[in-house]
Amino acid sequence: MTPLPASQQLFDRARAVSPGGVNSPVRAFRAVGGTPIFMASGEGAWLTDVDGNRYVDLVGSWGPMLLGHAHPEVLAAVGAAVARGTSFGTPSEPEVLLAEEIVDRTSAEMVRMVSSGTEATMSAIRLARGFTGRDKIVKFAGCYHGHVDALLAEAGSGVVTLGLPETPGVPAHVTADTIVLPYNDRAAVEAAFAEYGDQIACLITEAAAGNMGVVPPEPGFNRFLSEVCARHGALFVSDEVMTGFRVTRSGHWGLDGQQEGWAPDLVTFGKVMGGGFPAAAFGGRKDVMEQLAPAGPVYQAGTLSGNPIATTAGLTTLRLADADAYARLDAASARLRTMVTEALAAEGVKHTLQNAGNMFSVFWGTDEPVTHFAAAQAQEAWRYKPFFHAMLDAGVYLPPSAFECWFVSAAHDEEALSRIGAALPGAARAAA
Ligand code: PLP
Repeated sequence: MTPLPASQQLFDRARAVSPGGVNSPVRAFRAVGGTPIFMASGEGAWLTDVDGNRYVDLVGSWGPMLLGHAHPEVLAAVGAAVARGTSFGTPSEPEVLLAEEIVDRTSAEMVRMVSSGTEATMSAIRLARGFTGRDKIVKFAGCYHGHVDALLAEAGSGVVTLGLPETPGVPAHVTADTIVLPYNDRAAVEAAFAEYGDQIACLITEAAAGNMGVVPPEPGFNRFLSEVCARHGALFVSDEVMTGFRVTRSGHWGLDGQQEGWAPDLVTFGKVMGGGFPAAAFGGRKDVMEQLAPAGPVYQAGTLSGNPIATTAGLTTLRLADADAYARLDAASARLRTMVTEALAAEGVKHTLQNAGNMFSVFWGTDEPVTHFAAAQAQEAWRYKPFFHAMLDAGVYLPPSAFECWFVSAAHDEEALSRIGAALPGAARAAA
């Protein structure tokens, strides 16, 4: 491993004042070992750390950086917005423009802005419960919807990376109304609704699972979920925090619901729509959304919700995310997927690479399709550690966990791809 004295020094100081030295567990290097790298700056597809090393970034701030880092037009818009003031606590124009942009792109008829994906899913669940007058919710094992108490049962992302079966601090009665089912399992969904159908407020699913590695919904699965919910008077909540505005200009709905003629009752967004700032939203059917205070009785609020800087960054990002940007992003992702598969195959490393649009990840030590959480957990995740460090030493920054998605941006050009191409053979050898 390359020594990183400045990162090491900052990490030592961070550990003294912050639990585990990080402000989100997924940033720790627990699963792969070593010191988390402190980044100093980013530009396009590249990050530069505090020791002066440059990396091609395949984390993209865990999804938001659709256009790459420090896009000049986003920076200019944000700079101009900052000069006008950072927060007013009143309605302001950028939040209306961003809401209009989201309504134009997606199935949502109305949206409410919040500051994180966690708030979006938490609020969507409260709204579903308030609207239906029911308490039970259904989620899938391995899906992650933020650190909402009721949704941490058998969750993906950092919860699976750290091997935490359950989280202390969540009272049993809070998850007592959460029904957890295996992903892509229609029979399990039918059985749960047959038993509890008239008590279920909503079913929430990632539009395509990206937090147990990438596990796409089987063809027709999301439509099936929406139909089962409708049959039982429950709301279908599609979590597009990760997929939204990334896999198409709307999100995963652009790959299934829009083509097939159905829409979720509620949908959650985050990541890309904040352009690197804390902005998220939940939205959906007008009759459901109008149950929210002050239009209706279901309470939900936020001091910084719809913040003018965050919404300006998000709006500018979305306006730049045109057909050409998605074409570049999809092409870079497709090239990279081929490069990874070829490099691993050349070293005889058994693997399954799965994608949902331009999002993808590798499952190690299996060549079977991975369709649910138990299969994702059964992978040989230990192979990822030497692979990760070999890539890092060769200047490619990957997520520090085998259970996370790899994010490409529209700024991943020839130079970035050739750095990755040069790193892959050695990393594949290390994983063999
Ligand atoms: N939902 C999904 C699908 C996510 O991937 C995430 C975060 O990774 C969240 C919700 C939570 O978002 P946040 O981290 O902004 O609270």
